[in-house]
This record gives sequence, structure tokens and C-alpha cells, in this order.
Amino acid sequence: MTHQPIPDGADRTPAPPKPSSANGTRPGSALLVAHESPALDATVRQAVDQDGAHPPVDLDGEQRVVDLEAAERAAADFLAALGIDLDREERRATPARMAHAYAELLAAQPFRLTTFGNDEGYDELVLARAIPFRTLCEHHMLLFSGVAHVGYLPGERILGLSKLARLVEHFAARPQTQERLTMQVAKCLDANLRPRGVGVVLEAEHSCMTQRGVRAVGATTVTSALLGTLRTDPRSRAEFFALARVPNPPTG
Ligand code: ZN
Repeated sequence: MTHQPIPDGADRTPAPPKPSSANGTRPGSALLVAHESPALDATVRQAVDQDGAHPPVDLDGEQRVVDLEAAERAAADFLAALGIDLDREERRATPARMAHAYAELLAAQPFRLTTFGNDEGYDELVLARAIPFRTLCEHHMLLFSGVAHVGYLPGERILGLSKLARLVEHFAARPQTQERLTMQVAKCLDANLRPRGVGVVLEAEHSCMTQRGVRAVGATTVTSALLGTLRTDPRSRAEFFALARVPNPPTG
């Protein structure tokens, strides 16, 4: 297992990371920089505009029109182009199944990010460990899956623990890179909860890397994003990685 991010797809030169400028509400604080989707920008802006107020935030999925019949026809063409005989009885429904399977993997899960007042003044780390997730790598449209550890240092607001898992699920419902998924979860939590710090670690196995190309079976890619105190305070940072049980965390 390695703890350095490995580019998704070993047959491709990864784009150099861009310098971080975060979202304007905090100084640049990204270990990995994501290309934000317009949907995420909107969410972040909304939270910033509502200074002081904390209504629940509805997170919509990516706006995507799904035409299952067209997808089925395209899947049939795609498989035929690969020389796969679809006339065999047991394969007749394969294009339809394939279309449905991909649509299901990409089905956005809109949900409501409800926050609560931190009335007890809880000021230690809140961490959800080993949240399972799966998504499609946008370079090959093959599955990558693993676990996410998502934590935050509460400020004035807290949120239901299940929402940390829902947040990961939400951003996983679109073709992704592991780096972007990591950052989207961290930034969304940061923008909507305004905690003192946010930490997100993803450990994943990419089938495009383990089952094809270099066939690096068992290789795990680890990405992390730290914001606020978890980035700037070495002790908080060390505590986060210890609780997340990441043995050799990146020091960047
Ligand atoms: Zn890939």
C-alpha cells in the first residue's frame, strides 16, 4: 500500500496540480486541487451568501438527462464494434442491462444537508471512519471503490453523522477522479458547516489500474484534503490521521 497519490490510469501523464485558491472564504488550503463542478460552485456560493444563517442546504445531483433507450442502442453498437456476438440468446438483453447498470451507478442522490447548533460546545474531532464508496473513473468509466474517512472540528454547527456518508455517496454519483472526489467532499463540508477544520482521506482501488494496463493488483491509492485547523495545526492534523488510522500520512 502506498500513501502517495497515484495518477488514475498509469498509461497517461497526469495533469500537474494547480495552485490552490480554495473558495475565497479561507486561505488556500488544499492538498489536492479539484476542478470544481458548476453545481459545487453554486452550493459554495449559496453558503457564503447566507452569512450567519444556516438553513438546510439541498444538494442536487449533476444535471444529467438520461435516455435509457439511446444508451441501450449505443451499448449494442459498442459491444458489436468489439466483436461481441449479441445474437446469442443469453446476450440479447445485455445492452439493456448495461445501460441500466451504468445509469444506476451514476444515479445522483439529492439530499438535504441539515445542520444543528453545537449547543454543548463539542470541540473535539468528529470522524466517520471507513465509509464505503464506489464510483466510476472518468478516464475509463471503470469502477473504483474503497473507503472514505471524513472528519471535522466543529464550530458553531454540527451535522447528523449519517450525513458524512451521504456526502461521499452524493459526490460519488458521477464520473470522478479520486482527487476531485476528495476535494468536493471536503469543500462542501467546509462551505456548509463552517467548521474549524475538515479532513478527508480516501483509500481506493481502481479497476482501471488493477485489472488492465499495469495490473497493479492490490495497489491502493490514497488521497487526502485538509482544510482549516486540520491543515495548519500539526497536532490536530496528527490526531486526525491517527483516528483515521492512516499510518504514514502525507506531510505536504
Ligand atoms: Zn481509470
